[in-house]
Amino acid sequence: GPAPESSKEALQWIADRGGIAGHFIGGKWGPLRDDFATNNPATGEKLAGVTKGTAEEVATAVTAARKAQSAWAKSGHKRARVLYAIARLMQKHSRLLAVMESLDNGKPIRESRDIDVPLAIRHFYHHAGFAQLMKSELPDREALGVCGQIIPWNFPLLMLAWKIAPALAMGNTVVLKPAEYTPMTAMVFAEICREAGVPAGVVNIVTGDGETGAALVEADVDKIAFTGSTEVGRKIREATAGSGKALSLELGGKSPYIVFDDADLDSAVEGLVDAIWFNQGQVCCAGSRLLVQEGIAERFYAKLKARMQGLRVGDPLDKCIDVGAIVDPVQLQQITAMVDANTEGEKFQTTAPEGCFYPPTLITGLHPASTLMQEEIFGPVLVATTFRTPAEAVEIANNTRYGLAASVWSENINLALDIAPKLACGIVWVNGTNMMDAAAGFGGVRESGFGREGGWEGLSGYTKPKGNAKTLSQITA
Ligand code: NAD
Repeated sequence: GPAPESSKEALQWIADRGGIAGHFIGGKWGPLRDDFATNNPATGEKLAGVTKGTAEEVATAVTAARKAQSAWAKSGHKRARVLYAIARLMQKHSRLLAVMESLDNGKPIRESRDIDVPLAIRHFYHHAGFAQLMKSELPDREALGVCGQIIPWNFPLLMLAWKIAPALAMGNTVVLKPAEYTPMTAMVFAEICREAGVPAGVVNIVTGDGETGAALVEADVDKIAFTGSTEVGRKIREATAGSGKALSLELGGKSPYIVFDDADLDSAVEGLVDAIWFNQGQVCCAGSRLLVQEGIAERFYAKLKARMQGLRVGDPLDKCIDVGAIVDPVQLQQITAMVDANTEGEKFQTTAPEGCFYPPTLITGLHPASTLMQEEIFGPVLVATTFRTPAEAVEIANNTRYGLAASVWSENINLALDIAPKLACGIVWVNGTNMMDAAAGFGGVRESGFGREGGWEGLSGYTKPKGNAKTLSQITA
């Protein structure tokens, strides 16, 4: 096969910056300190030192964003020009971005190159168009102001794009905190902002961990946009309650993948590769809960196991690899502990190399109420049960505390369209999975969060009605 992608350029890029990932505030780098490490999970080697942002540093970034905001909100045409420039420069540096993402996160280079980076770029192109249209299409809306944005490690660059592109398009300025495991592509992005002529203070990046994130939640921002775990989402909801800060939460999931007996089984098997083994299963909307109609279950499981044996697990920079490294040994330990604690059903596992890797796993014959059917594993582990009737499929599908996405497989379009609206979740795919687009709203219900990203809903979430900044006493005076 082809030679692995070279990491030379990315490692040199890091070395040229003193081996540290740190703050980008008011258009300048710093402070930069080596407070903790971000590692390459595939090798365990340190990739860079990371600065743990303090509450003071967060406040400095918010002040810089505040100072830059009103000028930035003035001209939609200027914002469009800058957002297009960002998109073009991301294209120019797409190879560096892809390799950096795979080094930092462990995801296969085929995915970072063909999915993460192109989708992130598309997000900027899409929202550049809307920056220009804001005045004519949303004449009664204006920017919220300064947005604090906190993102997870599973799609570092793509989640950054989902947060920054719409916020900037609508005239907001931002302070974004990347996840502690994966700050590297945000560093490349910061330099792209400088090259693209983003005015100082419009985009600020503050690196750090959960404490830095908590400081950002407490800071003088007008909105918190958070993507991450349901547990932290709940804390943020409590911390912002009554503060007047706008809030959007994109949290966890346990999305059902429902296969009816008339489905095209080969397509449904291939879909599962994208649903649960894509990005090592570390996907919020992963099709992690397989529901198969009873009559075809054994045949379907047999096909699925054969396909699983063809999945290649290993070096993320190898272009032939399907499943890369788990982001961090802590996450690997969590996946292992959850699977090992289970005593129900039948487990089928392929193999994985030594180190921070986990083999593609299928556990069948689980009771819908069992822990593995209810809790998010966030790894390459598919759990399965069977159902008899469409009504039972809906009942099992809706029987978790989550509600992010669902996937329905059937050749009977009437059945699919009857089932789809009965599923309690934000997104339903029919004969497909994990499809996202900048033009479509994405988000969940129940404990999967609220608010939407992408589409009109995502854009309007970065605006408020014009003139609505007055307090109640000002209005009644
Ligand atoms: P996490 O909640 O631990 O961390 C997410 C981010 O929040 C990180 O940047 C972290 O530093 C920060 N953080 C941690 N504690 C904080 C606090 N008290 N206050 C403010 N910020 C804090 O989640 P994770 O482990 O990085 O990501 C995995 C989770 O994210 C999964 O549950 C997954 O389903 C979810 N996720 C959801 C979506 C979605 O769109 N719904 C997308 C990706 C990931």
